[in-house]
Amino acid sequence: MRLQGKSAVITGAASGIGKAIALRFAEEGARLVLADLGQTPREGGEHTLDMIRAMGGEAVFVEADVSNAADAEAMVASAVEQFGGLDIMVNNAAIGVGKPLLETTEEDWDRVMAVNAKGVYLGCRAAIARMVTQEPRDGVRGRVVNISSQHGMIRSPNDFAYGTGKAAVVYMTRQIAGDYAEQGIVCNAVAPGKILTGKTGDAISPEAISYSEARTPWPRLGRPLDVANAVLFLASDEATYITGENLMVDGGWMAN
Ligand code: NAP
Repeated sequence: MRLQGKSAVITGAASGIGKAIALRFAEEGARLVLADLGQTPREGGEHTLDMIRAMGGEAVFVEADVSNAADAEAMVASAVEQFGGLDIMVNNAAIGVGKPLLETTEEDWDRVMAVNAKGVYLGCRAAIARMVTQEPRDGVRGRVVNISSQHGMIRSPNDFAYGTGKAAVVYMTRQIAGDYAEQGIVCNAVAPGKILTGKTGDAISPEAISYSEARTPWPRLGRPLDVANAVLFLASDEATYITGENLMVDGGWMAN
């Protein structure tokens, strides 16, 4: 029970990696605000909220668009109202359009940046505004974990706006960690490599899979639980004196 009694907001918690983070946090005793556009998992299957409640966990679902400031504030307000405060913020929701520069329209750019970059800014701002008012425990007032990507560090093949937005997440993580360390805010990122979430479409096209397999030294591609375990560590009290870090969970992709 590494998160016993802690409250957390997780964005994009209906599907994929966000769902795995939510289930892992619930197993460890966290009380959760699950934020997403809707409850239907992209990959199909049961709703996260139903699964957590069936486990005996505590969670609420908040319909929220992370690119909207009022929604970001409502996610945090829900944690405060339901659970008395906010210990952990996980900014996970993101989108891609799968286009290189010359095909990226202004609308594509604006939408991806609104979710992947502005959404993280708004989520961090709403969460940290609350966290800095809380009493510190062992010097920590709150923990933020942003989900970046290996494609925030290196080129994202044919997804110009996505990679640029993810680079912004890595930058924001460092900047926030430095600016708010004195106030007891811990801010880290987790950068997944290729993670098979069960969703269909371009993400698992034969080209995408063979590219990912060629780039990944570990003899399998990633699973949502690989990422969830790393997020759990950074969200827990076990992660001491670690801030501003971007932890790769990529089977060695970036080492290769
Ligand atoms: P996913 O399966 O596409 O799930 C993303 C979730 O976020 C969906 O439930 C989606 O809702 C929701 N969402 C999208 N836009 C939103 C918005 N504006 N406000 C609130 N929620 C929104 O994604 P994933 O593969 O689990 O990826 C999760 C995170 O890991 C993302 O940050 C992604 O960039 C990162 N990542 C993933 C991989 C990978 O290989 N899977 C690799 C590197 C990094 P809808 O279904 O309604 O759109």
